[in-house]
Amino acid sequence: MLMCIRLKSISTSFGLYLDVIALYFLYEYFWHCICLIGVISVVGQVKTNQKGEEMTKQQTNAALHERRNNVIAKGFGSATTKYISHAKGAIITDVEGQDYIDFAGGIAVMNVGHSHPKVVKALKDQAEKLTHTCFMVAPYESPVELAEKLCDAAPGDSKKSVMFVSTGAEAVENAIKIARYHTQKTGIIAFENAFHGRTLMGMTLTSKIKPYKHGLGPFAPEVYRIPYANCYRCPFGQEHPGCNLECAEHLEDFFISYVGAEQTAAIIIEPVQGEGGFIAPPKEYFKKLKSLCEKNSVLMIADEIQTGIGRTGYMFAMEYYGVEADITTVAKSLGAGMPISAVIGKKEIMDSVHPAGIGGTYSANPMCCEAALAVFDIFESEDLLTKAKQLGEKLHATFTSFQEKHALIGDVRGVGPMIAIELVSDREKKTPAPEKAKQLVDFCLERNLIILSCGTYGNVIRLLMPLVITDEQLDKGMEIIENGLTAIS
Ligand code: PMP
Repeated sequence: MLMCIRLKSISTSFGLYLDVIALYFLYEYFWHCICLIGVISVVGQVKTNQKGEEMTKQQTNAALHERRNNVIAKGFGSATTKYISHAKGAIITDVEGQDYIDFAGGIAVMNVGHSHPKVVKALKDQAEKLTHTCFMVAPYESPVELAEKLCDAAPGDSKKSVMFVSTGAEAVENAIKIARYHTQKTGIIAFENAFHGRTLMGMTLTSKIKPYKHGLGPFAPEVYRIPYANCYRCPFGQEHPGCNLECAEHLEDFFISYVGAEQTAAIIIEPVQGEGGFIAPPKEYFKKLKSLCEKNSVLMIADEIQTGIGRTGYMFAMEYYGVEADITTVAKSLGAGMPISAVIGKKEIMDSVHPAGIGGTYSANPMCCEAALAVFDIFESEDLLTKAKQLGEKLHATFTSFQEKHALIGDVRGVGPMIAIELVSDREKKTPAPEKAKQLVDFCLERNLIILSCGTYGNVIRLLMPLVITDEQLDKGMEIIENGLTAIS
């Protein structure tokens, strides 16, 4: 190339010709340099995932996990080390392009499925208009409309009102504040195996020590605990039916021996215990419990954070039990992934708190409210409650057939598609088998199915797949679980 430049000075008639050649070589020279620099800088970093999409080294699960361990607190853990890039319906895809069938639904958050087009549109539209003013400063319509829908959908005929916050634990905190304010009493009764969140009050109400409470005290005062209606492991050594629901009757004894009803503001109860192991009380239990609460002027708070928004085949699980709680908390699937929770209660109870006594900066955020309105729309337009009931029946039948073949399954239980199996190493003694639950979770993950364990002993496998899951995805997932049961037995 340099020679060409020198040649240019020899003859001007020949000069134009040489100019072109010189420019060509210059272009070639720089182009190759640029390419070389490019190649050097990306060698070892450019990879393609299984779908042929380009990814950099930082986007492998392993590399992201390493980065995470440097900067994310250890206590803020994850059940898997798959880093998710996107999700649709019941399928989530990691950064390496691996698809997983999602039987966890972000812990009961994605009942309408991941990235439902109606939720996506609602969010996009709302983002163009307004993302925040603070409802406590300058209000807007969507929380009003959402509250109307929640009051309509919540069980019972009493006139109700609603307050919004962002997380499940915050809803629980506020439900307790409201119950105490209204009754002017302080005592709260919670249940064995209960889970109500990770804030101070949520953690105090929660039963299981490790990992939720261990070393994290001291806890809030005036919280008492009684046994739950756990038929598989009856705390009273009874068998249902024929037990006269001693577990409910026990409340009256409790008022005599542990805390007076005149000191007790409320009992807080999950209609089906979630983290505690998908324990579903007998159908008559809640009616009896509620009548004892009424007799003793104690409020009933139904924590429907995991059971609500269609998880049991009913918008609220208390509908299945035919009982109207005084206060209900709801979160998770209400916002399809957007952080919104609500406290719904009888109007005279909710309205007893003075203005600004409850609320928060992000309460009733307009993006979250629009997502929740889209969720209600989807339930109606896709008849999701009917689908949920059908899904529940199918899951019960499948798990029951697994139980006949696999001695490892001690119990199949739940309401509708909120269903679980309890794994035991000895059916007679009901010996919990948490190591088998872990093996099953790992087996499934290796075959691209995400499932979650739960329960006081960590030996329960629960299903929380989006209700919009296709038959094919469902069958594939259940097949993996059954293969897993065979492999670990
Ligand atoms: N209550 C129940 C019944 C729950 O299942 C949960 C969450 N698993 C909570 C409260 C706490 O919700 P969050 O994690 O949104 O605070």
